[in-house]
Amino acid sequence: MQLARLLFSQGFGARRECEGLVLAGRVRVGDVVVDDPFAETDATEVEVDGVRWPVHAKALLMLHKPAGYECSQKPRHHPSVMGLLPAPLQRRGVQPVGRLDADTTGLLLLTDDGALIHRLTSPKHHVPKVYEVTAKHPVDAGQLQALRDGVVLDDDPAPVRAAAVEATGERTLRLVLTEGKYHQVKRMVAAAGNRVEALHRSAFGPLTLGALAPGHWVWLDPAVFAAPA
Ligand code: URA
Repeated sequence: MQLARLLFSQGFGARRECEGLVLAGRVRVGDVVVDDPFAETDATEVEVDGVRWPVHAKALLMLHKPAGYECSQKPRHHPSVMGLLPAPLQRRGVQPVGRLDADTTGLLLLTDDGALIHRLTSPKHHVPKVYEVTAKHPVDAGQLQALRDGVVLDDDPAPVRAAAVEATGERTLRLVLTEGKYHQVKRMVAAAGNRVEALHRSAFGPLTLGALAPGHWVWLDPAVFAAPA
């Protein structure tokens, strides 16, 4: 592919802007400045203004969402998580895989792969998500059993149950869900007789945040969620 076209596909701006980046000597391929926008390349990484970018047909990222950010593209009360990403990723239409509430922290995936978003958010696929809950009141055995057996939420008569639940402290519990209804954890915990004071998502499918600091993000290998053959 021609270099300027490759930059365009990765969100570096309009075709002309990408040609301009190359002509200005701001793009390196394999440590060599390439100043011909139409040079053919099959690079898997480019460097723009000294920053290395892997080349991906589809972007998949993991962000440690801090509190005080909305997942919506049109946020109402807080800045959007999109502002935590560099401009090329915003431009290429990366969006959150499902949503976390503004006050929820933790693991948020973002991608520009619509089919992947559909697969990861569809309840049919049962992708487990792990939530660490800090509750207002002490967690008791009755509440844990209610979450296991299933609680009825206000928008659906069918009970929703946690795939797993355990107390992790006097006022903390870990909940595994395989679906993602609106405010699901908060509503389930309320229906079980307690109240969520703080919520953190620690895992999504096979992924955990590891040492990723709040507000930081990393590229992921899309193969982690490769479609089953
Ligand atoms: N459940 C909630 O209530 N809030 C979240 O942010 C995620 C799951």
